[in-house]
Amino acid sequence: MDVAKAVRQVIPGDPETARDRVMVPARSLWRRAWTRRGIDITSSMATKSCLVVAPHPDDETLGCAVAILRKRAAGTPVTVVIVSDGSRGEPATLPPAELIEVRKAETRRACALLDVDESDVLFLGFPDAELTDRVEAVAARLGELIGTLAPQQILAPTSCEGHPDHDATNEAVRRAVATTGYRGQVLEYTVWFWTHWPWTLGYGTAGWSAQRLFVQPVHRLREHRPLLVDARGLRARQRRALAEHATQVGEGDAGPDVAGSDVAGPEAAAPVTGSLLATLESPYEVYVDAGALRHLDFERPWRSGPDRRGEPSG
Ligand SMILES: [Zn+2]
Repeated sequence: MDVAKAVRQVIPGDPETARDRVMVPARSLWRRAWTRRGIDITSSMATKSCLVVAPHPDDETLGCAVAILRKRAAGTPVTVVIVSDGSRGEPATLPPAELIEVRKAETRRACALLDVDESDVLFLGFPDAELTDRVEAVAARLGELIGTLAPQQILAPTSCEGHPDHDATNEAVRRAVATTGYRGQVLEYTVWFWTHWPWTLGYGTAGWSAQRLFVQPVHRLREHRPLLVDARGLRARQRRALAEHATQVGEGDAGPDVAGSDVAGPEAAAPVTGSLLATLESPYEVYVDAGALRHLDFERPWRSGPDRRGEPSG
């Protein structure tokens, strides 16, 4: 059954918009069902000193703002490290060197709104959209930071983000943890995850089938309980921080400026999409245990496939 074709017939408009009109609310419903099975870790989250590892400037705000705010309110130290230089982000018309500085300034302002001091925001400066070629080097730098800061907790993007830089960052964290013998807690946060999960490609079922549409999402619901940080009362501050990343979210408003994309890839022109923004309405920020989703290892064409360096940032 070609479900995508059927959806297009029922819902008029271009395929992207039609898909979004179905998938964004469907994903929100699924997320609500999943979080009902979740484990509330709000209080333990608040007291663990932390290294937040963000692939790009803005991922710290999109994925971890609530946890950061809870920690800082409890006086807990937080260091944010931005792995890539953000040079492939918007606006593409700006010279990369200039864009890098603009995005650094945006990140510092966003983090200030999350109560993280400028001196606790670090930039590793690896080339944006090329992290898949630099996993070892990123892991080495992260290993140094883990040694210096000795955080009680590390927050990394999930292993199932589907965005090459994010998946590469997850792998770099994993290697750094293994190399340093890190004994603290590692949790994974969700950003691009919410643009495809749980109707995700790369799990052995190509295309839109009834299996992928109905059966797999039920499995996804059951196999892992999400870890939840109470976001109530904190989403407005997160949105204000996100608005500081003005080059990535439009004219200072945190609204969607591109249609949501089912899977991160060349068609995903900006990091902030419909499905991703919908998560900012959720009463919980969602985490998973490190490695919890690795049995569903996302297909990573960058491991063996063609050069994807032409891809945009995110
Ligand atoms: Zn990103």
